[in-house]
Amino acid sequence: MPKCAKCGNSFSFGCSAIPSVTPAANGLVSGLIGNFDQQGHITEMDSLINNLDQVQEAWEFPEEFFDTCYECGSNEIIWE
Ligand SMILES: [Zn+2]
Repeated sequence: MPKCAKCGNSFSFGCSAIPSVTPAANGLVSGLIGNFDQQGHITEMDSLINNLDQVQEAWEFPEEFFDTCYECGSNEIIWE
């Protein structure tokens, strides 16, 4: 499962490749947020994009998409 090397967050991550469309309004680090369970499976995805192909890809290949800690904004994500 993904884990932030800085703050230890292993639950919620964003994708830096998909910027938030309204960063000032909602404070999200990314236009695509994924929540993970303790087995590293995505339980929920919050998407501000309307590109279903990209959402589907993130679901199938989360390691390639979720590279930003949602809690502290760090890009040091460890995949275990
Ligand atoms: Zn963090």
